[in-house]
Amino acid sequence: MTAGLPDVVPAADLPSRIQIVEVGPRDGLQNESKPIDAAAKIEFIDRLGAAGLTVIEATSFVDPGWVPQLADAGQVFPAISPRPGVRYPVLVPNMRGFQRAVAAGASEIAVFGSATEAFARKNLASTFERQFDMFRPVVDGALERGMRVRGYLSMCFGDPWEGPVPVYDVVRAGKRLLDLGCAELSLGDTIGVATAGQVSALLGAFSEAGVGPDRLAVHFHDTYGQALANTLTALRFGVTTVDASAGGLGGCPYAKSATGNLATEDLVWALTGLGIDHGVDLPVLVATSVWMARLLGRPSPSAVVRALAAGAM
Ligand code: MG
Repeated sequence: MTAGLPDVVPAADLPSRIQIVEVGPRDGLQNESKPIDAAAKIEFIDRLGAAGLTVIEATSFVDPGWVPQLADAGQVFPAISPRPGVRYPVLVPNMRGFQRAVAAGASEIAVFGSATEAFARKNLASTFERQFDMFRPVVDGALERGMRVRGYLSMCFGDPWEGPVPVYDVVRAGKRLLDLGCAELSLGDTIGVATAGQVSALLGAFSEAGVGPDRLAVHFHDTYGQALANTLTALRFGVTTVDASAGGLGGCPYAKSATGNLATEDLVWALTGLGIDHGVDLPVLVATSVWMARLLGRPSPSAVVRALAAGAM
């Protein structure tokens, strides 16, 4: 290998290009307990853009009382220096959040649904059924303004209260989000329990139900070290949109470890080795994650960040 990059040996059965959705500033930071100030968040987003990431989920217009870390969304979002060709979606939980997002100048949003009853109650203070009523006016309002909407579906592979989640329940819930008008559905392994066979089974079930991989994204967590294996399984199914978090930031308060989202660096290393186009400058991204790890006062959980930044952390 050349210094800092893997040898490139392409695989025939994988896509030639992947769209990475960088979720570090939102999903990553929202699950980090050490407060990060607005100026650092703005710098983080701008540095991620400079590293070549082209979709950066910037923040969440959730009730500040629920997620104090992102209470400054209205201050952070308008202060981003937008880069040509880069999209900055924001998470919006309800109409109040949608209005704040529009006022801040957002042009693309995501809603966050649950595949299970228990998580809809715990995380959304709603019910499985009522969540769709909550999202409908938000999605309608966004579409009227010409805004793209992404739908997240959480607990697709297991729920800490309900246990296994039947594949067809996930497909039904996902189709309802798409039917509301979401352009894309991100399938979340919120507690990081999925293994590769489950991923194949779920993507196969979506395909049978008429939802092809072009409308799906995957969102894996590395709780049990399976995030990258699960992602590669999804790529073999033709999925070309993958969520990842710089430095592996974040986690899930309901998972049994502090390990968070698939680290963008781990994904980029694997894609680079497979000759798959991703557009990211890995050393610039690693430097960004080392900087953020210092602000958070702990080393990055990403194996690639640790390997490439040895001595710098
Ligand atoms: Mg996540």
